[in-house]
Amino acid sequence: MMRMLLAVVALAAALPAQAQFRLPSIDINKIVDSAKNVGKAAKDIDQPEEIAIGRDLAATLLGAAPLVNDARMQRYVNNVGRWLAAQTERSDLPWQFGVLDAPQLNAFAVPGGTIFITRGLLERMKSEAELAGVLSHEIVHVLKKHHLKAIQKAAMSSLGGDAAALALKDRAGAARDKLISFGTEMYTRGLDKSDEFEADRLGVVIAARGGYDTYGLPAVLQTIQAMNAQDSGLALMFKTHPAPGERLDALGEKMQPTLDRYSKQPQLVERFAAEARTAK
Ligand SMILES: [Zn+2]
Repeated sequence: MMRMLLAVVALAAALPAQAQFRLPSIDINKIVDSAKNVGKAAKDIDQPEEIAIGRDLAATLLGAAPLVNDARMQRYVNNVGRWLAAQTERSDLPWQFGVLDAPQLNAFAVPGGTIFITRGLLERMKSEAELAGVLSHEIVHVLKKHHLKAIQKAAMSSLGGDAAALALKDRAGAARDKLISFGTEMYTRGLDKSDEFEADRLGVVIAARGGYDTYGLPAVLQTIQAMNAQDSGLALMFKTHPAPGERLDALGEKMQPTLDRYSKQPQLVERFAAEARTAK
């Protein structure tokens, strides 16, 4: 498992610095024959492409914050995440989970099955069920291709059909760099609110299937709600997600029976305390 994570790190290191944030200038007219082939890029992105785009994005995002240097913690979070992913209809994806060495509270998924959670968020959690709740929410973003679709949409409207198709297929071209920059931007701007509510609802179902107390995610949302909203560690999460109170209300409205039915499943407080403790 660590080997896969290390492979991601190696990829990040191998990525030329210019591919990370600078946008190459693109002669749009040269590569876009917009009227003719608008429909081309709208077709589904196949799974290898989805995984390749996710790898590029993960490498860029890892350039901003490295993984926590704690093999035991990384292995543990991977084990929990892969167990949950195995309960889903996309269990065949190359799932990998990493804890980023960042004090802010955040978690996010990239297309193809790579999921990151920050050390800051992990440190606020009290049980494996809470971790499972957050990872399940992120797993849903991958299952439903929320980011992939948003990136595709942005590429289509900004580059046009042909260039967007080229950006998806050609892994080394300038259009691809542009595509990855759209993707990176997505992580500071956030998804549609409806995608976030869907991830909360279906995430609860995945946590239940995994055998966890379904109140894990609501507990984390309550922790965040109780914190000072001005806390700088929450800025990005508040910018990219609906307010925790709104998410709790939506869950209560739609998921109350499921939450209650599986609320007696284990929380695994002690195992979490033993495995997720930060090596100082
Ligand atoms: Zn989300």
